[in-house]
Amino acid sequence: MARRMLLSLLNGPIGRFVLGFLERVAPGQPGSLRILTYHRLESPDLFDQQMRFIAERFHVISMQELFDAGGSGSELPPNAVMITFDDAYEEFADHAWPILRRYQLPVTLFVPTAFPDNPDHQLWWDKLHHALTQTSRRGFIENGTYSYPLSTAKQRKAAYKQLRIYLKSVQHHEALAEVDRICQQLEVASTENDVLSWERLRQLAAEGVTLGAHTRNHPLLTQISLDEAVTEAVGSLADLENEIGDTLPIFAYPSGGHTKEIAEALKQAGFAFAFTTERGTNNMRQLRPQQMHRNNITPYASLSVLRAWLLIATVNPKQLLKRKKAA
Ligand SMILES: [Zn+2]
Repeated sequence: MARRMLLSLLNGPIGRFVLGFLERVAPGQPGSLRILTYHRLESPDLFDQQMRFIAERFHVISMQELFDAGGSGSELPPNAVMITFDDAYEEFADHAWPILRRYQLPVTLFVPTAFPDNPDHQLWWDKLHHALTQTSRRGFIENGTYSYPLSTAKQRKAAYKQLRIYLKSVQHHEALAEVDRICQQLEVASTENDVLSWERLRQLAAEGVTLGAHTRNHPLLTQISLDEAVTEAVGSLADLENEIGDTLPIFAYPSGGHTKEIAEALKQAGFAFAFTTERGTNNMRQLRPQQMHRNNITPYASLSVLRAWLLIATVNPKQLLKRKKAA
């Protein structure tokens, strides 16, 4: 309820006035970089509004420009922003890329490389979502000690949200087995994944999209062994090199899951930059290249919500909390 009220305030004229004021008094610092992360798009129109705003107010840099700037930060323009998309869904090519191209905005697409041209290999949350939205089963579904009611669409949506949180808390192989078990109970025929084919990815790369590694099978790296994590990361970069050609040594952690040990192992494996889902601004003079901050924008986010996240990124709430604790 409070969230809904805050959103309607933010999207209204008062919200826009406050955002405009804060944007003037708290601009992005020189030598700092804010990175946006998208996955799916609910509305191409909303994305169009966001990109028009970004094109007018920010300097969007490409992944290559980040490499060129190295650790110095001196070459980054003020108000630098980078745009990334994870998971390489078809809607990126169908809806996002034409808009990005129109505004001449560079973008990086992180690809989980076991999924292109492998339609039966589903991303586990998509498989779960499909089964829960399509099932004609009602009553309850059991998951260990929990049971979730399925009578209404709202309950099935809640079950999806709660199961998704639970499944991220267990070992990856356990999560996959549990998704299979739940989907069997829901009695829904599985569908094909909607990840871009290698042919379409090659086309996008030829048109200027930077492709990056995002593991092969999209496990949470904190829910597999360190050796498996490195194999997944290195394997996805090798797949991109085989299928696309020269690829920058960059990596996005699936769902952001990482530890200092994993970041160090990726550095040793040759990844120059690795991207988390921890919100914040990257200060180019104190960069942690294997733990880059990114700011997730949900498919439903309005322009005002995007502007608010960009402002919050400059504040970096986690760093503020740390400072408060230390004080
Ligand atoms: Zn992902």
